[in-house]
Amino acid sequence: MDGGQTRFAGVMGWPVEHSKSPRLHRFWLEQLKVDGAYIPLPVSPGRLPEAIAGLPLLGFRGVNLTIPHKELVIQLCDKIDETARRIGAVNTVVVEDGVLHGTNTDAFGFIENLRQNSSWTAPAGAVVLLGAGGAARAIAVALSDNGVQDLRIVNRTRERVQSLIQSTGLKNASFVPWNERDQALDGAALVVNATSLGMQGSPNLDLNLAALPKTAVVNDIVYAPLLTPLLADAAARGNPVVDGLGMLLYQAVPGFKAWFGISPDVTEELREFVLA
Ligand code: NAP
Repeated sequence: MDGGQTRFAGVMGWPVEHSKSPRLHRFWLEQLKVDGAYIPLPVSPGRLPEAIAGLPLLGFRGVNLTIPHKELVIQLCDKIDETARRIGAVNTVVVEDGVLHGTNTDAFGFIENLRQNSSWTAPAGAVVLLGAGGAARAIAVALSDNGVQDLRIVNRTRERVQSLIQSTGLKNASFVPWNERDQALDGAALVVNATSLGMQGSPNLDLNLAALPKTAVVNDIVYAPLLTPLLADAAARGNPVVDGLGMLLYQAVPGFKAWFGISPDVTEELREFVLA
């Protein structure tokens, strides 16, 4: 702690009420007895430049960014790191001596969730990534940086995959048309759903797992519901499964550490608290 001075951080979004981040960071603040506060900050897109510029002035250590600010905030940071630049989005801002540093911790959160909850390693073989939106960009960068040699990106819109591959500089990724998704599973070691399909209020993900080896890890980053129909199908045929809540929890670790000075743990107790 800093001479008893309360440390402030928060999450900017529009709307922001749905965000689980305040609950998650407050759990750690209380558990670790940190003199700090993490606040939901409803900021409309038009007011984002003023809100970000005001952070050092108000003594904030930084913020998380959620929909719709992750791309807009890039040009408002003084510095952004290589990961955020390749992903094309910033989800964490850290203020240091009045300088705004932007980073993206979704890639870390994704990989850490897999590492902690499965035996997956990159040399295991091909990876099928469904989706090419904001989350998929972070996941593609994470998988490539972790040594995946055959990344099959399945998406409804081809142009989105092309732009993902080009702007992230991926060398080992290929586009698979949406109607060939079932066949793309052949020989895969990991399947990740990064589309919004299967989420509460969205249509289901129609995916036939017959070609998927039984040893392949299946990860759905959708966490509402926690057990998506994809994970239920995969578990029923014996595949190891990893849900999406861990990615949300682990992506929060680097921000908490930078703002509050302590590295927090992701525990079962935290999972239950965030879900409650
Ligand atoms: P996004 O940028 O809007 O991307 C949505 C993706 O879903 C695109 O690839 C889109 O394909 C695809 N899609 C949507 N409707 C489809 C349909 N009817 N048929 C086929 N494909 C369809 O969203 P995002 O921010 O990447 O988020 C995706 C999901 O991940 C959301 O459910 C979100 O809650 C979840 N998420 C979880 C975490 C976590 O920490 N666990 C983090 C971030 C996001 P097109 O390109 O063809 O439109």
